[in-house]
Amino acid sequence: MTSTTTAPTVTLRGGAHIPQLGFGVFQVPDGETAQAVSLALDAGYRSIDTAAAYGNEKGVGASIASSGLPRDEVFVTSKLWVDDMARDAVRPALERSLDRLGLDRLDLYLIHWPAPGLGRHVEAWEELVALRDAGLVREIGVSNFEPEHLDAIIAATGVVPAVNQVELHPAFQQRALREHHRELGIVTEAWSPLGQGTVLGDPVLAAVAAAHGVTPAQVVLRWHLQAGTVAIPKSVTPERIAANLDVLGFELSADQVAAIDGLDRTDGRIGPEPDAFTG
Ligand code: NDP
Repeated sequence: MTSTTTAPTVTLRGGAHIPQLGFGVFQVPDGETAQAVSLALDAGYRSIDTAAAYGNEKGVGASIASSGLPRDEVFVTSKLWVDDMARDAVRPALERSLDRLGLDRLDLYLIHWPAPGLGRHVEAWEELVALRDAGLVREIGVSNFEPEHLDAIIAATGVVPAVNQVELHPAFQQRALREHHRELGIVTEAWSPLGQGTVLGDPVLAAVAAAHGVTPAQVVLRWHLQAGTVAIPKSVTPERIAANLDVLGFELSADQVAAIDGLDRTDGRIGPEPDAFTG
């Protein structure tokens, strides 16, 4: 297969272009993050997904700074943690993230969880709109929002999130939520796009992988691309970091896509239930 290292991009509501494949750093210790992100940037990733809650924004920032890449060539996402969703807490939380990252602006800032039990997702969204209007973030979005949470913030502000970053992989495909996104013009971003590795042993994926001479992980990431979602796989393994981006040299047939679509399960969720999660 042909190797290429530039991911296609998707245009967000505010006009920014987000690479369809980015590099996630959840559960990477801060001390190891700079090295992992440097490997990713060397491999050709131009989008990094971090969060205040990951405790590794400093490592991400150090790596971007030492890469020598122009700032506008790396798309940087971070997230507002649930403890900082009160109106007065939002801007200081963003400023701390920017400080740790060594940046003066984020490309995308997300509300990490709706935490409806806390009742603060609408005011947090109003504050994100203000941060965008102040030029501190280019695009604003949310994460782990269910349709009713999206509807509530849009009804209150008239502002539609650019992105909803949600758990999405072959065992948990979020069809109804994706349809809601399509109707609203929200880009779907897949977290745990490889199901944290748990889906990769599936025989359907093995057969498709063998047919193309690629790995099951590459098949899954190609499936995300062909579905139009943005995916942010994480790895600290150099060969996997490179291979996970190397998915542009083959194409899944309609039958292969249908076979992977068939792996969706009602009990496939790995992470928390968004309605119940309060941090
Ligand atoms: P992923 O689906 O990306 O899976 C990561 C796991 O798969 C790691 O154990 C990694 O191992 C392994 N892996 C990676 N590539 C391969 C490969 N080619 N072959 C075999 N195994 C592989 O899970 P994550 O939960 O890390 O999700 C990705 C990103 O999504 C996070 O880093 C974070 O940025 C974001 N996220 C956001 C959440 C949210 O609430 N908004 C929640 C969870 C994640 P190894 O590292 O050892 O190579």
